[in-house]
Amino acid sequence: MNEPLFRLIYISRNEISGDEATLNREIDQILASSRVKNPIENITGALMFNAGCFAQVLEGSHNEIQNTFERIQCDPRHSHVVVLAFEPTSERSFSNWSMAYFGTNSNAAAKFGDIANKAGFDPSLLEGDRIFDLLKEHLIEAESASHRKQ
Ligand code: FAD
Repeated sequence: MNEPLFRLIYISRNEISGDEATLNREIDQILASSRVKNPIENITGALMFNAGCFAQVLEGSHNEIQNTFERIQCDPRHSHVVVLAFEPTSERSFSNWSMAYFGTNSNAAAKFGDIANKAGFDPSLLEGDRIFDLLKEHLIEAESASHRKQ
């Protein structure tokens, strides 16, 4: 029997210092390890970075999300991890993605930068649903743009 599906949404502060090349290298490493480890844990999701903040959506079973998130929380490349939502969900929104990524040049990350700056990391002003909708909407746009190119 399939285990019930959950979705976790969090934001965190970037602690990677250095120039853009260093930042890109570290993010490439994070994505590379996510794309190896997440399929093993049956985790899908999306990661967004802008204005010194990360936002991430993880989808999977309760236990698998907990295992993955425990590792992520200990990572010194970010801090001030704030969970915005951890709730049951009926389906995966990022089912094709062990970890989709929206970087500083994406429209999604620009909008996220605005939201995070205005909220000043106050969780009561940061809604998980808003961040989730932003990622979902931009993933759909990105996927349909890539289909149009094929
Ligand atoms: P190892 O690779 O053995 O590393 C040991 C310790 O060193 C860990 O605490 C690790 O966090 C830390 N570490 C590793 N590389 C560096 C580095 N370059 N600089 C500083 N410290 C380092 N992992 C996933 O599996 N799935 C995800 O979806 C995911 N999302 C992430 C999102 C963010 C914003 C961040 C910052 C990290 C994310 N990671 C993710 C990476 C995760 O935190 C672990 O680094 C990775 O899973 C490897 O874990 P490990 O226990 O095998 O550690």
